Amino acid sequence: MILLDGKKTSLLVQETIAKEVNILKKKGYRVPHLAAILVGDNGASMTYVNNKVTACQKVGFTSSVLEMPKNISQEELLKQIHRLNEDDSVDGFIVQLPLPKHIHEQEILLAINPDKDADGFHPTNFGRMALGLKSFIPATPYGILELLNQYHIPTDGKDVVIIGRSDIVGRPISILLSQKPWNATVTLTHSHTQNLSELTKKADIIIAALGIPKFLKADMVKEGAAIIDVGITRIADTTTKKGFRIVGDVDFEYVKEKVSYITPVPGGVGPMTIAMLMKNTLNAYKRKYKIQ
Ligand code: NAD
Repeated sequence: MILLDGKKTSLLVQETIAKEVNILKKKGYRVPHLAAILVGDNGASMTYVNNKVTACQKVGFTSSVLEMPKNISQEELLKQIHRLNEDDSVDGFIVQLPLPKHIHEQEILLAINPDKDADGFHPTNFGRMALGLKSFIPATPYGILELLNQYHIPTDGKDVVIIGRSDIVGRPISILLSQKPWNATVTLTHSHTQNLSELTKKADIIIAALGIPKFLKADMVKEGAAIIDVGITRIADTTTKKGFRIVGDVDFEYVKEKVSYITPVPGGVGPMTIAMLMKNTLNAYKRKYKIQ
């Protein structure tokens, strides 16, 4: 069994980006700038945004975080987005999800200038991606593709089962893997899927993105399969400093004994997501200044 090391792979991606940033600096260009809007004080969201700021520092980007109160109005949040859309010093920005219940998330995401949409959630980017045109690819699917690529895991003609059909992970990765050059035969499953284990047992690659800890059991996978665990759930744990631990969607201890490749949680897809957000920001910058 080979552990798909997202930490190591994300560092490789970040090193390549840092080199490009150094070249830009030597040429006298300003460095790329990623901004993040953080609404409220959700602990997980704050951690994600902090990790993104740290990654920006590592690759040499400028970063800024706009912290907004959890009772911010829809209008005020839209105003902030328009401000970032207009700000020429910002190359890409993200709105950290989830947003408070009173905020209409779709309207917020729609307001982001697609050219600055570092998360790749805007319908323009999603549509372009679905048509195989140049676009921002949502960071988590992009990270999964990069992991598969770095570990030379073949996808051409392979059976891939994806568990979970969210707009940010399951659905986009299903579209991408079915396209050229990945050429996989993809089954996208969800909470209404019947006989899920009959499908997963035949799969060469399983991508679990449903948010139910240890959902994918060893008897649901075939010998030698490749397993990508996207799940991140915080489970209360008084033995840890933070009072919780992170658990994935795969029953790792048992599944790992049967398969060829598997991502750990933490240290698998999570770090890749952040690295690919950096890549999207660099791409936004390069596109803006028409740098190849
Ligand atoms: P979501 O929470 O929006 O949706 C869950 C999906 O799982 C739905 O499509 C639902 O139909 C499906 N589902 C639920 N129960 C199921 C069942 N019993 N069988 C089959 N399908 C079922 O999805 P999301 O936002 O993609 O999040 C999924 C998990 O991935 C969460 O744990 C989230 O924290 C994590 N996540 C991780 C990263 C990362 O960078 N590693 C990024 C995004 C999300």
